[in-house]
Amino acid sequence: MSCERKARKTLVQYCRRLYGKGYLPGVDGNISMRLDEKSILITPSGVSKELVKPSELVRVSLSGQTMDNGKKPSIETNMHLAAFNHSGTNAVFHLHSPNACAFAMARKNIDTRYAPFAYYHLGEVGYAPYLPAGSEKLHKEVTQIIKDKHIVILLESHGVLVLGADLQDAFVKADLLESYAGMLIKADSLGGAHMLSDKELAELHGG
Ligand SMILES: [Zn+2]
Repeated sequence: MSCERKARKTLVQYCRRLYGKGYLPGVDGNISMRLDEKSILITPSGVSKELVKPSELVRVSLSGQTMDNGKKPSIETNMHLAAFNHSGTNAVFHLHSPNACAFAMARKNIDTRYAPFAYYHLGEVGYAPYLPAGSEKLHKEVTQIIKDKHIVILLESHGVLVLGADLQDAFVKADLLESYAGMLIKADSLGGAHMLSDKELAELHGG
């Protein structure tokens, strides 16, 4: 099997996993992976990730040119391309996962300083003010936030963007973010989570 055929199959497997988790409801959200040094594979516009086929994925150059004639890539391709400029990024997920989206819609960032595992694995979550999906302004905003070394970004009133070293790394981060956002919402009903001190955060070594 060629590298590209294998990559198309693998990306579709992640579409199914993320859809199954409820992170890509309806036809929303989009995911991509680096194919080679010059191009990426991304999900098409307006297609359910439960049903998308390997042949429907779109190959796009890093400069934004569609390399599969007649196919329409996600309207949020620009935002993905901004993320691939970050060294070490080989997979990018844009998700509408419900707990993280609840924070985005409440226009509150997800503060990872309430749990050691969240702070250690996700770092500080970046926050992009509301801008229309697919707009040049959103592309510029995300480019700047990634330059500031954020690997997880909350998009106000919209969703999340997760950068990974590979598809599995992005999946683990997205899954952790969603679970952690749910814990924060639950902790609120118990009077609110307790923030770790600067000293406690400085002593973290994973685990
Ligand atoms: Zn979106």
